[in-house]
Amino acid sequence: MNLTFCDKCGAELPQNAKFCQTCGAASNVIEPTKNRPTRAWYLMPIFFSILGGIIGYFAVRNDDRKFANRLFIVGIVLFLVGFIGTMLFFGALFYAFLHSPP
Ligand SMILES: [Zn+2]
Repeated sequence: MNLTFCDKCGAELPQNAKFCQTCGAASNVIEPTKNRPTRAWYLMPIFFSILGGIIGYFAVRNDDRKFANRLFIVGIVLFLVGFIGTMLFFGALFYAFLHSPP
């Protein structure tokens, strides 16, 4: 149940009512302002990679599902980039080691 009330006379309003049926005032339904999670959550996956992505996902999931998904994806992408980068680095190191002059 999600009841709303007229902010002029306090009468109960049907959901999504445009006007108050009691006093005729345009209903200015004050919806509970959604807690938009701060974009600072992006720092989580940036610093902690996939772990930060998962933590951020669960932290903002209830407030902003899309943002939560984005944090999760950023975490995975950064994890993969870091993983591939590390592999390339050590691969190059190994290659250089094998081909180094005696
Ligand atoms: Zn009213």
